[in-house]
This record gives sequence, structure tokens and C-alpha cells, in this order.
Amino acid sequence: MASTLIKNAIIVNEGKSFPGAVVIENDKIADILQDGAFDENIFDNIVDAKGNFLIPGVIDDHVHFRDPGLTYKADISTESRAAVAGGVTSYMDMPNTNPQTTTIEALENKFLVAQENSIANYSFYFGATNNNSNLLPSLDKRNICGIKLFMGSSTGNMLVDRRDALNKIFKNANMIIAAHCEEQSIISKNSAFYKKYFGEDVDIKYHPLIRSEEACYRSSSLAIELARETDAKLHILHLTTEKELSLLENRALEDKQITAEVCIAHLLYSDEDYKRLGSLVKCNPAIKSINDRNALRAAIATDLIDVIATDHAPHLLSEKEGGAFKATSGMPMIQFSLLAMMKLEKEGIISIEEIVKKMCHNPAKLYNIEKRGFIRKGYKADLVIVNSNSAHKIKQKDILSKCGWSPLNGETLSSKVEKTFVNGNLVYSNNTIIEGSLGEHLTFAR
Ligand SMILES: [Zn+2]
Repeated sequence: MASTLIKNAIIVNEGKSFPGAVVIENDKIADILQDGAFDENIFDNIVDAKGNFLIPGVIDDHVHFRDPGLTYKADISTESRAAVAGGVTSYMDMPNTNPQTTTIEALENKFLVAQENSIANYSFYFGATNNNSNLLPSLDKRNICGIKLFMGSSTGNMLVDRRDALNKIFKNANMIIAAHCEEQSIISKNSAFYKKYFGEDVDIKYHPLIRSEEACYRSSSLAIELARETDAKLHILHLTTEKELSLLENRALEDKQITAEVCIAHLLYSDEDYKRLGSLVKCNPAIKSINDRNALRAAIATDLIDVIATDHAPHLLSEKEGGAFKATSGMPMIQFSLLAMMKLEKEGIISIEEIVKKMCHNPAKLYNIEKRGFIRKGYKADLVIVNSNSAHKIKQKDILSKCGWSPLNGETLSSKVEKTFVNGNLVYSNNTIIEGSLGEHLTFAR
């Protein structure tokens, strides 16, 4: 049995931060100890955390790794390595790949690709369409994280816009429905208006007026209404507006039928950043006003928002050219999500304990992931050492995502991921990916 001691850490777990040490045996956390209260000689390896934070690995419940079919811009191998470099040890990938993950066969193929290529732990959403709700009851609830529902067109052709189809999905889903909420009829009307005045492509600054607050609010409201009618569990993805916060409850995750996610880009940027970053930060739903951004920043420190994720969605730089209609939507973020949040921690917007709650504990709780997301005896040793006093600039050469760019390139971070362990294996250390082990598929207690 291989044992590793991580000593001199500040362990951040379950609302507390305290000095201590963690023992890893094989793939699991074997013990949590006080420093100095043990004989170091009995361990095979010793890792000195040097007073840095030790947190559970981040679980990102919303990524687009583009595999299969769009692997010219990202794939499971490259993006899972970017993930562990950023302290993300598990991810849940969305179904708008090619082929789309809307059949059992496509889903099984994704698991096979991940099994051979993913350095982080993984699961995959099944995509709901206007016509496949009959498949939902037969999905393997132990191994599939949830059902993705596009209640707005976004990317790919997975828009579910027929009321009867929506009803069937909510009724037949016996696992969590993760919904992208933007009302397509409003977006279409706004698009026609702006095209009439400005032609086929319009400046990116109009993007949040086309994919508007109203489009988000109306769609989120409908999703909540359907969930209440059918008793379904609903997780509203990437909330972008202050107005939608009024639809949510400020209560512990355990007591809620309806939960919500906010993504990093909507916490970092507002429409003022379109001048500086242009379509690089074009995403759906759109980045909205500074008021919205500030309301989201306030909400992540409360129980209104349950999960902070990335919506990591790489594109080639050449695909990000143009304005609100021409540029593709989405940006890479997974390598810097934890560190971007650590920067907000330095600015007093959120505490380290709350970051760990929203990025590690809550995704595990919400999806009932087995034995991950916490530093507990017997849990999988998915662990990250974070140095919170390591100011450095993001450089081009540091970017591991296949698309080779980041909207954060050149920005100064306050923290650094020193080491990442996945299932007890050291997979990232000294700015280097350590090959030799692969992630596991997540399992769900249901
Ligand atoms: Zn997404």
C-alpha cells in the first residue's frame, strides 16, 4: 500500500480552515491529522504544503470539451490536463458535441474516449431533444450526471421549444435537469430588429441587448414553473441577471428543488469589458451590465447561488472574429477558474470557505457524487494545494487548452496551484502535468 503524507497545510473543508495534515493511502484519504502528532517515518512519500491551502479538488459541473467531433479546437485529453493544472479534478461535460450526446450509443462512446484519455475524473450529460424523452427513464442513474436541456438555441441544434416536449422531459426525467434558459422567440425578435438597422453582423456591445435580460428571465421562469408542476429537480445553469435572482431561494442546497449555477465569466466581466476584450468574451447567455455582475458577486456569498462553474467552451481564435452574430459563443476558462475566484477572495468578494463550498462541496452534494468533493476519511483523494500569495502574470506559454488562448492572458493572478492529486495520484506539480495515471468515471448515489 502506497502512503503519502501532506503536512503543514491549511485545510479548507466544510466551512472551516485549520492547520493540519492529510494522509493518502492508494486512492483514498486515510486520515486527517494535527501537525506534529505522528511519526513521519511511516509514510512512503512526504509532501510539505508549506502553509498553503489544501482543498478538495474542484468539481466543474459545466464544461464543453468538444470531444467527439470538434476536436480541432479541444479534446478530452488536452482539456482534462488544463483542468488539473487549474485544480479541477472532476468535470461534467455537455452534450453539444458531434455527434450530439442524445443517444445511448453516443453517450457510451464518450465514456470510452474519456476512459483512455482523461487525466481528471469525468461524467457526461445526456442531451434532451424535442423527440427523445422516451429514452430518459432508461438512463443509467448511477453513472450519468444528469440531463442537459437547452431552453434557448445557443450552440448546436438541441433547442427544445415545444411545450409538449418540455412537459415530457420534465415528467420523464428521474435525475437532475440542468437547463440553459434563454427564450428563443425574444432572441429572434431582437436579432431581426438589430439586423434591420445594422446589417448582418452587429457590434458585440449589442449582444446583451439581443440575448436580453427578458429572454433569460422569461425562460428561467418557465423552467421553474415546469419543475414545480412536475416535481422535477432543476439546476439553472449560468445565471446572468439580477432579475433572475428574484426567482431563487436563499436556503441550503439540501432543502431546495431548484438550484442555480453562476459561471466565472459572468463574475469577472460586464458589458464594459466588450470594449477591451471584444468577442473573446462573447458567450451565451451574454455577459450583461455591471449591476448584474455585482448582484451575482453578492449572491455567490449567499445560498441564492449553489454552484460556481466555468462553462469552459473553447473555440479557435479565428472563430471568435466578428460581432454579435458572426463570432462563436464561449471561451476557455477551466485552467484559471479557481485562481480567478481566489483573486475575488483577495478583493473581499467571497471567502475561501465559500469558494470551496460552491466549487467542491456543492456540486458533489447536488449531484450525489459518491465519495468526492470533501476532505473526509474514506473519500477519494482528489486534493489541491493552493498558494494564495503568489502574484504572477498569466503567460501565453502557460495556457494548456488546445485552442491556445484565454481571455485572462496577461492578467495578474494572486494565487497559484502548486499540486493537484486525482484519486491519490499526483498529476500536476511544479507547473508540469505528471503523466502515468488516468481519471475515473464519477458514480452517483441515487
Ligand atoms: Zn454551456
